[in-house]
Amino acid sequence: MVITIDGAAGVGKTSTAKELAKRLGYQYFDTGAMYRAVTLFFIREKVDLSSKSDVITSLRAIKLKIDFSSESEMKVFLDDDDISLKIRSQEVTNKVSAVSALPDVRDMMVKIQRSFTLNGNFIVEGRDIGTVVFPDAKYKFFLQADYDIRAERRLADFERLNEAKNINDIKEDLEKRDKYDSTRKLSPLKKPDNAIIIDTTNCSLEEQVNEILKHIEI
Ligand code: C5P
Repeated sequence: MVITIDGAAGVGKTSTAKELAKRLGYQYFDTGAMYRAVTLFFIREKVDLSSKSDVITSLRAIKLKIDFSSESEMKVFLDDDDISLKIRSQEVTNKVSAVSALPDVRDMMVKIQRSFTLNGNFIVEGRDIGTVVFPDAKYKFFLQADYDIRAERRLADFERLNEAKNINDIKEDLEKRDKYDSTRKLSPLKKPDNAIIIDTTNCSLEEQVNEILKHIEI
């Protein structure tokens, strides 16, 4: 079974999805990491995003691997290079929305996401999981939170990684990505039909996970 969690950056998708996966004994699946991996590959290969043939040739060459073997982590590889941390860089973050708006990229990622989840139970987080990838999922959640709290959470994430960041830069990044992700033609970020909205603005992780669990019968 697949449970979908969609929402913008900083609304608490990752921490919630990981904790939910742990409690239910499901596998955690971060689809944003796949778009980030393609972005890193395109940066390395100097792919011209405006050239469809360049994009298609590069997608054919990409050797993207995902390792689900750890319980609540998901590792991403390009060939044998573990890029799980490298895909969090500012350079990748700045370019990922443009890469993920490309139809050929989305086609390929959606196919992989559906094939990976054919067997087993997954909590899948992303932007289009309940709308496009698994529109028939029995349980769909859409997380949202106030803008200021999202920026503060992102700042805390960076602090945990010992990366110095300025709150205004984070706000600017969130605003830019929100706009790009929710106004793109293909699979824009939006609440899926039948999704339950969870507002995490004033919630602890424990509270938001418990709120979701109230709706799930397994
Ligand atoms: O979740 P995360 O912030 O790592 O996602 C990075 C980017 O990947 C998003 O800003 C969005 O552009 C793209 N994405 C997407 N569809 C998904 C997951 C992520 O377009 N299902």
